[in-house]
Amino acid sequence: METCNEIFELLSAYLDHELPAVTCAEIEQHLARCPECVALERSLRSTVGLCHGYAPNQAPTPLNQQVRTQLFETYQKIIAQRNERGPS
Ligand SMILES: [Zn+2]
Repeated sequence: METCNEIFELLSAYLDHELPAVTCAEIEQHLARCPECVALERSLRSTVGLCHGYAPNQAPTPLNQQVRTQLFETYQKIIAQRNERGPS
């Protein structure tokens, strides 16, 4: 099973629209088991459009560093909250 950090790296790569469909499927498999990453993916989707929301014929808008930092901080909060709850 992929770790959440690996998923986050995949999601980050997707911000540049680099992910092939098979990788997108891997992410979705992880999301099916990991509510924390679902929350992260939602925030990404609302920002850039992810997987199903991405229209390949549209020119993607590059994310600036501020947005990337914001997303990373969101992810860190999600992980910290889970650690506070302890292992399930
Ligand atoms: Zn996860």
